[in-house]
Amino acid sequence: MARTVIEVKELRGALPIPAAAARGAGAPVDARGRALRDLRISVTDRCNFRCTYCMPKDVFDAGYQFLPHAEVLTFEEIVRAARVFRTLGTEKIRLTGGEPLLRRGIEKLVAMLREALPGIDLTLTTNGSALQAMAPRLKAAGLDRVTVSLDSLDDATFRAMNDADFPVARVLEGIDAAAAAGLAPVKVNMVVKRGMNDHQVVDVARHFRGSGHIVRFIEFMDVGSTNGWRMDDVIPSAEVVRRIGEHFPLEPAQANYTGEVAERWRYLDGAGEIGVISSVTQAFCSTCTRARLSTDGQLFTCLFAQRGYDIKGLLRAGADDGRIADSVAAIWQARDDRYSEIRTAETARGRKVEMSFIGG
Ligand code: SF4
Repeated sequence: MARTVIEVKELRGALPIPAAAARGAGAPVDARGRALRDLRISVTDRCNFRCTYCMPKDVFDAGYQFLPHAEVLTFEEIVRAARVFRTLGTEKIRLTGGEPLLRRGIEKLVAMLREALPGIDLTLTTNGSALQAMAPRLKAAGLDRVTVSLDSLDDATFRAMNDADFPVARVLEGIDAAAAAGLAPVKVNMVVKRGMNDHQVVDVARHFRGSGHIVRFIEFMDVGSTNGWRMDDVIPSAEVVRRIGEHFPLEPAQANYTGEVAERWRYLDGAGEIGVISSVTQAFCSTCTRARLSTDGQLFTCLFAQRGYDIKGLLRAGADDGRIADSVAAIWQARDDRYSEIRTAETARGRKVEMSFIGG
């Protein structure tokens, strides 16, 4: 039986009227004192993979209605929104999806963002399937780095997990191509799920040791409403570190900056580092400075949000940049999200926007 997918239209919140205090306030902070430093922009809701924890095939099948073209933010709208966010203190932009490299002309968007926002940290998260061909063009357009999702090195396991029979070798070639093009250090994200790929943790660490790439092991999360999450499926990061450390001794390393999502661990023999992202067992909401703009221009203030705010409506209704900035500032100032700190089995069953719609 097909599982329920929440339509984003059901998730829209009313845009707040900017409070007088918000107008022209510069960089806003939210109700918990967190700045708006990072913006993740989903450029497509489509993907060529059907990973079971993100876009399971029984939901995202041939009959699934992806967004019509007219609903998708144009490159010009994305750049304008990004420029507005920059005025509010945003320092980093990550392009996501769906699979962002499926968006036609993505390198043109990168070039437009680079030109409009010189100096901003500009990155992209991809499944790596098209990276080998596109890495040089993305670098030339001004992209700084890429993060590649890779949940297994074992070809049979990888093909089963992406549920699209895509071979792991092509993703590994894409990672090497990205590094060769200068999109480095390449970060490799592995979502670890008990009984599915946790037996691969040490193999993945071994494969990338000494390569200059940084693997980040991510606890399996209850993203969206379709992935059937259970606490029993989570391998705590502490266990990941212990398992790898038994083979390759590790020591903790200092965070690169306040609010860094991954906890860093360095190999004692100098073969590089890994990261662990403990979204379930050690929530990091207190330093979360991330906003997400969906493919159709809805602003979400949390990965687990139940509603978004219609920024596209403002963009298309002729609002000037100051009005849009005031609205975003007001939304941010009202933000009180800390889902991972208060997650329970009950909240995990709740309605949330799909990750393929707003990026991870
Ligand atoms: S649960 Fe929400 S507030 Fe907490 S870290 Fe994740 S995105 Fe940020």
